[in-house]
Amino acid sequence: MNLANAGQRQSISLGHHKALEWIKSGPKRLLIDGKWVNSQSGKTFTTYNPATEEALTTVSEADAPDVDAAVAAARRAFLAPSWAAMTPDQRTVALLKIAEAIEENGEELAALETLDNGMPLWYSTNTVKKCAEVVRYYAGWPTKILGTTNPSDPSSFIYMVREPVGVCGLINAWNTPLMMACMKVANALACGNTAVVKPAELTPLSTLRFAELVLETGLPPGVVNVLPGPGAAAGAALAAHPDVDKVAFTGSTAVGKQILAASTGNLKKITLELGGKSPSIIFQDADLDNAVAAAVRSFCGNSGQICSAATRLFVHESIHDEVARRISDLASTYKVGSPFAADTKLGPLISREQLNRVMSYVDAGTTEGAELLLGGSRVGDIGHFIQPTVFASVANSMKIAQEEIFGPVLSIIPFNDDQDAVTKANDTPYGLAAAVWTRDLTRAHAVSRAVKAGRVWVNTYGEAHPVMASGGYKQSGLGREFGAESLEAYTQTKAVLVRL
Ligand code: NAD
Repeated sequence: MNLANAGQRQSISLGHHKALEWIKSGPKRLLIDGKWVNSQSGKTFTTYNPATEEALTTVSEADAPDVDAAVAAARRAFLAPSWAAMTPDQRTVALLKIAEAIEENGEELAALETLDNGMPLWYSTNTVKKCAEVVRYYAGWPTKILGTTNPSDPSSFIYMVREPVGVCGLINAWNTPLMMACMKVANALACGNTAVVKPAELTPLSTLRFAELVLETGLPPGVVNVLPGPGAAAGAALAAHPDVDKVAFTGSTAVGKQILAASTGNLKKITLELGGKSPSIIFQDADLDNAVAAAVRSFCGNSGQICSAATRLFVHESIHDEVARRISDLASTYKVGSPFAADTKLGPLISREQLNRVMSYVDAGTTEGAELLLGGSRVGDIGHFIQPTVFASVANSMKIAQEEIFGPVLSIIPFNDDQDAVTKANDTPYGLAAAVWTRDLTRAHAVSRAVKAGRVWVNTYGEAHPVMASGGYKQSGLGREFGAESLEAYTQTKAVLVRL
C-alpha cells in the first residue's frame, strides 16, 4: 500500500479546510488569564501529523514559571465575583454555550483532532459529538449539587453544603485529547472550580482551539487556562504546585504514581484515570456474530490506543479456533490508511516511538510462542501505520497478555470453565474494564460480579454514557469520572452547626 501523502490526497471538506487555516494562522500560544501569551522562556515545540510525519505548527512550551502565572490567574478567577458569584443556573447557561460552540465548530474540531492525533475522521467526528453531549451532561449538574440537613437536637441546626475545591490542574493523555479536555473542564466548571489544562505535548491543538471557543462564549478570564508543554516540566510543576487544590490526571500508571507522590506537598485531591489490559470473555453460548464484531472494533478502535480496549480476549476452548479464525478474517478487511479516507478503519499510531514500542510487543509475542494469525507488520514507510495484529493460543503469563501495548494487537487466550475465565481475567495489575458474552443470565451476572474492573459490559463492549461512572480498579486508577461520583471528586463537603 502506498501511503505517501496519506491524509492529504482526498478532497478537503470545509471543516478540514478551516482546521488547516487555523493551523496556518500562526504559532500557538499559552492561554493564561484570558490572554494568548508566549511562554516566559520563549521556548516552542513542534507538533506533527502522525499520518504524514510533517510538521503542523509550533506551540509555545510551558514551564514552571508559566504554571505559576496560570495557577495565580486561576486562583484570582476562582475568587472573583464574576465567577465565584455566578449562580448555578448561570453556570448551566455558560456550559450550554460551550456545548453549542463545540457543535457549531464540530467539523473543524474533528479535522484538527485527526490532523494532530491521526484518528480516522469518522471517529473524531463521533468523538466531537460526544464531547458536546458530555458538556451538556455537566451543564445539567450545577443546580443539582445538593447539600443535606441532618437530625439534631432542637437547639441547633446542622447542614452540609458541597463547595468547589478551587483551582484544578487537568493533565491529559494524547489518545482522545479533546474528549479529555471537554470532560474535565466541564466537570470542574459545573462544580464552580477554575482550571489549568495541560494537554499532552503530542496533541495540543484541539485543546487550544477548544479554549479559544470557550473564551468566545464570554467566560471570565482565568477560569480556563491552557499550558501545552512537556510532562516532566509543565505537568510536574502543575502536579506539585502548592496552590493547586486538585489534580485530575489521565495517562499511564507509571506517571499516575508520580502525580500521587507529587500531591503530598499540599495534600491535593487526586483522580487518576490510568492504563488497562481489559478482558472480554466469550462463553460457548454467546452470540458469536456480535462478539466477534465487537472484539475487532474494540482492539482496532483508534488503532488500539484506547485505555479500555479489550486487548485480552478469553475464549472458551471449545470455540477458540473458530473465534480466532473469524476475528482474523474480519480484522483483515479493516483498512489501514489515510485518516481522512471514509473507508479507513485504522489511522496511524501517534508517534514513531509508539510504533517501535508496539512492534517490540509483536516480536515478544512471536518469541514467547504465541500463534501470529494476522498482521504484525508496519504498513508503508511514511506515517506510523501498523496492521491489525492477532495472536491466538496466548498464555496469560506472556508479556503480550500482561502489559499494556496501546496498539492494535489482540491476544486470544483459551479458558476451560467459568472459574478459569475469571481467574485469568483478574490475573493482571489493571482493572479498568471487562466484558462478558453469554446468553445465560445467571452466568452474566455472576461473572460481572467476579471480575475486578471499573466498568463491565454484558453482550456489548465499550458503550459509554456520561451517566456511567468511569474509572479503574487496582492500578487502573483512583476515583471516577462521569456519573454523580465525578461531582464528588470536584467538590468538598462543609458541615455547618448553627446554635439556635
Ligand atoms: P503519559 O502518562 O505518558 O502522559 C499523560 C500526561 O501526563 C501527558 O500530558 C504528559 O505530558 C503528562 N506527564 C508526563 N510525565 C509527567 C509528570 N512527571 N508529571 C506530570 N505530568 C506528566 O501517558 P500517555 O502516553 O500520554 O497516554 C497513554 C496512557 O494513558 C495509557 O497508559 C492509557 O491507558 C492511559 N489512558 C487512560 C485513560 C483512562 O480513562 N483510564 C484514558 C486514556 C488514556
